Amino acid sequence: MLFTTEDPIQPHYVIRHEECTGNEIDAMNNIRRALSRSYAEVSPNLLPTMYINEDLIPSFKEIDEAISELRKTMRVHEQYQILANYCKASDISKVEISYERDLSADQSKNAIASYFGKEFPFQNFMNPLEEMTKMDCYLEAKDKGWDDLLNMTSFCRRPKRKGRPCGTCGPCCDTVSEGLGFRLPFTSRMKARILIPFRQYYRKNYLKHENSMFFKVIRRRLEHKF
Ligand SMILES: [Zn+2]
Repeated sequence: MLFTTEDPIQPHYVIRHEECTGNEIDAMNNIRRALSRSYAEVSPNLLPTMYINEDLIPSFKEIDEAISELRKTMRVHEQYQILANYCKASDISKVEISYERDLSADQSKNAIASYFGKEFPFQNFMNPLEEMTKMDCYLEAKDKGWDDLLNMTSFCRRPKRKGRPCGTCGPCCDTVSEGLGFRLPFTSRMKARILIPFRQYYRKNYLKHENSMFFKVIRRRLEHKF
């Protein structure tokens, strides 16, 4: 985005109580440093990141109710609920998010994306990657010589020592299944390959078996890990 507009870019980062938080902040700082070294002409347009404590974002009844309704038919990750509430609380009318098109059989992942930029409560979300897969993003970055920067991003939800991707979380499995396994160390990549069929089964049956005892137990144990 920095290379395609002369407008200043204001990043927002919601600080949550997650294992990947520190890693993500490190990645953002490293990318910012690399940008100022290699692309000094555009880096001033990247404004200092606004860090927001998740616990200080108020909840709006109409947003939470609309999302509860949506959850009857599709999966809505908590982060989008927090972001919708944050936009309203901070009077942000347009926020750009990155949600790539999903290639798996799990259409509910794509279903939520159809609400972005259009339907309440996600009408403020702009999604420039709507038509692009992870691989499309990588190939375009490679073509334009930005792949080094793209490879510095953090995607794992439970990074291991030195920030290495775990290979067992949802984003790690998605990265491998979409052809970008080279971003994981060998052992993590192998773990992801073993887990991918199980994960796809779980996601496909998420709504169907929502109330079954088996899935309730699984969900309790694995909450926030998928
Ligand atoms: Zn991971």
